[in-house]
Amino acid sequence: MMTGKAVVVYSEDRELGLQILSKGREISDKLGGELNALVIGAGVTDPEEYIAHGADRVLVVDDPALKRFAAETYKGVALEALKDVDLGILLIGATKRGKELAARVAAALDTGCMTECIGIDVDEEGRLLGQRLTYGGSVISSQVSTKEPHVATIPPRTFKKADPVPREGEISVLDVDIQDQRVKVVESREKARGDAGLAEAPIVVSAGRGFKDKADLRLLEELAEVLGAKIGCSRPIAADLGWMEEWIGISGYKISPKLYIACGISGTIQHAAGIRDAQIIVSVNSEEGANIHEISDYSIVGDVYTVIPALTKALRERIG
Ligand SMILES: Cc1cc2nc3c(=O)[nH]c(=O)nc-3n(C[C@H](O)[C@H](O)[C@H](O)COP(=O)(O)OP(=O)(O)OC[C@H]3O[C@@H](n4cnc5c(N)ncnc54)[C@H](O)[C@@H]3O)c2cc1C
Repeated sequence: MMTGKAVVVYSEDRELGLQILSKGREISDKLGGELNALVIGAGVTDPEEYIAHGADRVLVVDDPALKRFAAETYKGVALEALKDVDLGILLIGATKRGKELAARVAAALDTGCMTECIGIDVDEEGRLLGQRLTYGGSVISSQVSTKEPHVATIPPRTFKKADPVPREGEISVLDVDIQDQRVKVVESREKARGDAGLAEAPIVVSAGRGFKDKADLRLLEELAEVLGAKIGCSRPIAADLGWMEEWIGISGYKISPKLYIACGISGTIQHAAGIRDAQIIVSVNSEEGANIHEISDYSIVGDVYTVIPALTKALRERIG
């Protein structure tokens, strides 16, 4: 149904905001309302980019006081900016900050918040439909938001950014009264990041507890080198053993490579949730009944200590 209400997209991560805009455009066309991009920050650049990616209007709140993200302050700013918008749906990028903001804004609007939707649409009444991973990612549940305005968060790479096209649009620079921050940042430190480019890598090889010693990971490094792959792991390898920084799975990175090779990984639902978008999954596991074989396109039942060197050798001969 054409409600004529606006769809608003916000993310402090510009790339994610543009990805959500492409889906927002589709939904907005169904509702027959405006698609707005909300941009909050200090020294906002190139707001036209949002228009080229589908927005009809960009609501810009640009103030030096907004240089650092503070959930309460940003909430106040977002609510002020949305005051004159006939809001139907608010879509927020599900980054750590976005999630903090979405919950607060939804509560202030006295509505619900569908978190981490991996699919969204609207029904004939203009209500927001969301698909969300449930039970550790083993099930997708379809949910409907029954109270307007509808608020949802969308994880990175859920939707593909549209190609920019020359379009007409409006940029509204808003003069918002920024409330005193109740939280003061006394110090900020750069976080040591172990992200080896896993999220974007076309090929990922990954280690699980089938490896008995950190030094043995060199077998995986050699395989990765031949394939030009990034190296990942299951959670115990990083969180318990500390052999790597980041892991793959429901509480780690969600990846979507063309090829994923799981070595000595059992394939629990928590791990599988992170590789559900991998195009081809290959498993190397000595136990025939291991779950990872069930979810693999190609299963190698064997010992990582013999299979991986053999695989590396064969690939090296083929692809140099
Ligand atoms: C709330 C919560 C969140 C979690 N989030 C994540 C997450 O994001 N990611 C994640 O990975 N886990 C996560 N876990 C942990 C998860 O439940 C599993 O414990 C974990 O994935 C198991 O890691 P693994 O497969 O390396 O080890 P194991 O389950 O111990 O499996 C090791 C596998 O290696 C095989 N093996 C042993 N020796 C060899 C050999 N020589 N050659 C070949 N194969 C061999 C075995 O057959 C076995 O299948 C989470 C758990 C909880 C409770």
